[in-house]
Amino acid sequence: MRILIANDDGYLAPGIAALVRACQGLGHIDVIAPEQNASGTSNALTLTRPLSVFEARGEQVQGFRVVNGTPSDCVHVALTGLLDQRPDIVFSGINNGANMGDDTLYSGTVAAAMEGFLFGIPAIAFSQVDKGWAHLDAAAAAARAIIDQVLADGLPAAPFLLNVNIPNRPDAATRPRRVTRLGRRHASEPVIRQHSPRGDPIYWIGPAGDAREAGEGTDFHAAAQGEVSITPLQVDLTDHASRPAWAARLARPAPV
Ligand code: MN
Repeated sequence: MRILIANDDGYLAPGIAALVRACQGLGHIDVIAPEQNASGTSNALTLTRPLSVFEARGEQVQGFRVVNGTPSDCVHVALTGLLDQRPDIVFSGINNGANMGDDTLYSGTVAAAMEGFLFGIPAIAFSQVDKGWAHLDAAAAAARAIIDQVLADGLPAAPFLLNVNIPNRPDAATRPRRVTRLGRRHASEPVIRQHSPRGDPIYWIGPAGDAREAGEGTDFHAAAQGEVSITPLQVDLTDHASRPAWAARLARPAPV
């Protein structure tokens, strides 16, 4: 078994070290992670400059390889030239904070896993619901328990993409699990306008909105119950239901 592990919080984040420790004994592990915190970079690839890869130094990051790019860059470079052999599965995380509902569109954690999935490799993204790394070892144990069960029957022929959010609790590994759908958030809070020391206006993107659709069956609902949320994701953004209506309105040019 060959495992590729990436994240979006950067190679020095405690979450990726915990996930790597949790995966010990499963097989060969390659860790390839961004140099900087790249949260919120979604599926971005770096196309305007070359990427560098270096070996990390330090006890917690022994053997990690570091890319001065995005989470998707890490997995993309790994799969298209850096690794000698194709991994059997890709893990991403453990992220510092939830990736639920609309977050999944912006998340670098989900994107790193999705990059593997786009290459036909099964992938799982792991996040802790609350920021701050409380009960990180329990989250890592929860991740390992899920991984063991995913692998128990052998990997299915078709690749999959799972988005896992783990509550920050000491008993995370034994909490009930829910297979959920994505909820929805309200629009983000307004941008925060300040002035630079040189007097120019600067803008901070505001925080994400609160959950808007958080009913039973959603990832938000599971997290609110202190359960582990597991959402199977797909990549097709097509609005299949509205295609006939749009075809009726727009498929024929208006007569001049
Ligand atoms: Mn992050």
